[in-house]
Amino acid sequence: MMENYQELTAKQKSFFRSGQTKDVQFRKDALNKLKELMMSHEQDILDALKKDLNKPEIEAKRAEVGLVLSEINYMIENLTSWSTPVEVKTPETHGEAESFIVPEPYGAALVIAPWNYPVQLAVNPLAGAIAAGNTAVLKPSELTPNTSNLLAEMINENFPEEYVRVVEGEVETSTALLKEKFDYIFFTGSTGVGRIVAEAAAKNLTPTTLELGGKSPAIVHEDADLDETAKRLARGKFANAGQTCVAPDYVYAHRSVKDQLITKIKEVITNTYGGEVSGSTFPHVVSERHFDRLQNFLDNGKLVAGGKSDRSQLFIEPTVLDEISWDDAVMKDEIFGPILPIMTYDETFDAIEEIMNHPKPLALYLFSDDEKVQDDVLNNISFGGGAINDTINHMTSHYLPFGGVGDSGMGAYHGKASFDTFSHFKSILKRSNK
Ligand code: NAD
Repeated sequence: MMENYQELTAKQKSFFRSGQTKDVQFRKDALNKLKELMMSHEQDILDALKKDLNKPEIEAKRAEVGLVLSEINYMIENLTSWSTPVEVKTPETHGEAESFIVPEPYGAALVIAPWNYPVQLAVNPLAGAIAAGNTAVLKPSELTPNTSNLLAEMINENFPEEYVRVVEGEVETSTALLKEKFDYIFFTGSTGVGRIVAEAAAKNLTPTTLELGGKSPAIVHEDADLDETAKRLARGKFANAGQTCVAPDYVYAHRSVKDQLITKIKEVITNTYGGEVSGSTFPHVVSERHFDRLQNFLDNGKLVAGGKSDRSQLFIEPTVLDEISWDDAVMKDEIFGPILPIMTYDETFDAIEEIMNHPKPLALYLFSDDEKVQDDVLNNISFGGGAINDTINHMTSHYLPFGGVGDSGMGAYHGKASFDTFSHFKSILKRSNK
């Protein structure tokens, strides 16, 4: 039977028109409820993530539950000021008048989430939609079914469906939801599916945020502190078995430091995971299809670390490949697994040019204290966001809007940017009738 979400969307639109979600206290209450649900279900969430991805508790506590709670707290603290209309100047030519910018919710929002951080990437956009005063339908990923079930149970039992509803399902469910005329669509996932979502949104001229992926480079310059660089690179790459949208996809290392960097990364892997990394402790690849895709890369270039895999456990060891070029299969698309290819450059502009010849990355990392190199990289390459002498952590700050550009996405969220993303800013000029 064809799925149909007309009734659900109609209910949400009608609830939105009742005006209840425009009340700031109503939104704060809803955010508090979401926060309480996250806290009271913390162990269930950790268990579901363990079943779906073998996600270690410490990683899940920090990157799924912890990040969501701090985002919600920050929203509750700031919501009153964010939602207050702002008075701005009026040009003299307009005579006696006042001017305001009024943030208002779009209406009924649709959030489509991926599987890699299946709680954080579903609940953070949902919190943004709620904070801005929208109703929301959330579609989690079918590839992490235990988490999807849990989110549906937690949310559907505690929010009325005309306000917030989790709809579970596969591609057909997304397709059916995308047929409805939502007032906002927030999609996180691959660039390919992002195009499908944008096409569906275009039919209804629905404003859309696309949080996509891509190949995020890490440039390691000749002056980099290799001990710290190796630690921060390995942490960013191998967390969640490389299945992080902002993981450093590959390394561009200056020729003079490349060999030493590889030695240091190998040391970090040994120190972090012990001599023998195993599928019982390391996070799993999400599916057999993803495992098979990744396994094809293991013979690219020269294997210098890891390389073992076990399909029955969907386990791939943290792996480092040297002597890689853009012609290798591993460099064609986003890797999204625990495999780190290393390429070499001599002149900074060689690396910059090559990165610019490829789609705009979601993230970029530069390891160097040389301000000239920092300027050259930041001023020339267009990318979503990133870090100097670090990986990943730019996405955990409320103060930094997070999003991609070009093939890595459009729009941004986190902190105030989430509120702004789910709000329309209505400009009003107010004159007297006299
Ligand atoms: P995906 O694009 O395959 O799926 C994402 C969501 O879209 C899922 O809910 C899925 O059910 C749905 N979907 C799949 N095919 C669809 C179709 N044809 N029509 C409509 N909906 C469809 O992505 P994924 O594999 O879940 O996630 C991995 C990708 O997401 C990577 O590329 C990664 O970089 C990217 N990602 C980006 C961010 C970010 O914040 N920018 C965060 C996490 C992941």
